Amino acid sequence: MRLLLAEDDYLLADGLSMVLRDGGYAIDVVGNGLDADAALTNGPYDLLILDLGLPKLDGIDVLKRMRARGQSLPVLVLTARDRLEDRVIGLDLGANDYITKPFELPELEARIRALLRKDQWSNLSEVSLGPLRFNTAVREATIGDEVLDLSGREVAVLDILLRRLGRIVSKEQLMDQLSSWDAEVTANAVGISVHRLRKKLEQHGLTIRAVRGLGYRIETSD
Ligand code: CA
Repeated sequence: MRLLLAEDDYLLADGLSMVLRDGGYAIDVVGNGLDADAALTNGPYDLLILDLGLPKLDGIDVLKRMRARGQSLPVLVLTARDRLEDRVIGLDLGANDYITKPFELPELEARIRALLRKDQWSNLSEVSLGPLRFNTAVREATIGDEVLDLSGREVAVLDILLRRLGRIVSKEQLMDQLSSWDAEVTANAVGISVHRLRKKLEQHGLTIRAVRGLGYRIETSD
């Protein structure tokens, strides 16, 4: 993940970039709006952290220009506490989230993670695993030309597992997420849906592995 940080406060920029590098991100830092605009024009970034009060070219204009070029990367705006109108303008112009200074670093990191996740998912109209393709818009699972016959709850379980591809989803997370679609969902009901979905996937070389005490992970069975 490659991030661009546009911030003219050198102390803040240094501190932030150090923490984010430690967090495993590649990060480039620019100290004014023109450099930010040039970096965005030339480099592929996954996220922009943008201070609005930048010299040479205002943060708002950096945002306007990149959106005008059709660049859809998520933007997290850094703003001073008393500049409410800036936040509103920023969000209107296509910023995805903002954080007011001073902020706690863990909060900033959490916002970054959330934006990167949201972006990955929303940019994908289809997620695939082995022979399985899942259309995230119509929430339909297909293998080759065949549409899998899944119940609403099975589709929901599949959706949740695929969103966390490669990671383990706990039973509690499944219960929480399913309860936003259905009414109350018990642990037992989750277990039954997982079991049914697994049976339907196994004939196609996919499985939902139960990781004892932790939860489930969807994967190819070989
Ligand atoms: Ca500034």
